Amino acid sequence: MLSYPSILCPDCQSTDLDASLIENSSGGQDIDAFTCRACGMTWKAYESLRFPSAPDYRTAYTGAPELLDEELALMALPDGPAKPDASRLGRRSEHRIHLLRTAAYLDRKAHELALSGFLGGSLDQDVDQAKEEAARAAFELLKRDLEYMDVEGEVHAPYVPPAQPGWDYKEAVRAYVRQEYKAWREE
Ligand SMILES: [Zn+2]
Repeated sequence: MLSYPSILCPDCQSTDLDASLIENSSGGQDIDAFTCRACGMTWKAYESLRFPSAPDYRTAYTGAPELLDEELALMALPDGPAKPDASRLGRRSEHRIHLLRTAAYLDRKAHELALSGFLGGSLDQDVDQAKEEAARAAFELLKRDLEYMDVEGEVHAPYVPPAQPGWDYKEAVRAYVRQEYKAWREE
């Protein structure tokens, strides 16, 4: 099987991986788990082992709308994210939820594309673009949360706070989105 460079062994960073497949609800096949040929490590496709403090994809997004439904819902919102208005808490909070939902949608989409790319079902450039978009949206959320983290009720971070060093790079910042999305849904 071709190795796809966007999926790395979380332990040894090898791209020489085997995927085990599982039938999905539409009769196709999804990746259930990976095994690293170099070091033997095995992990589930929904895990994000490099960021153990944040929830994995399944924990963060179980019960979330289907990806397509969420895409349509986000498109239906007027004018993209509401302009933040520093003087109005309700408006700011709406703006944050929109940023959060957009970032979460793009995080899930990039993850799905990366998995399908591993099986040859997505083009490398589409996977790369999805990852870029996901990282960009995640940074936007992080930036906003850093700005407001000292304001009571603004950032719902029962886990790792936004100012924690380490969130601020491409892959990790998407794990921040997963943690915040889970926290928001549990409110
Ligand atoms: Zn390995």
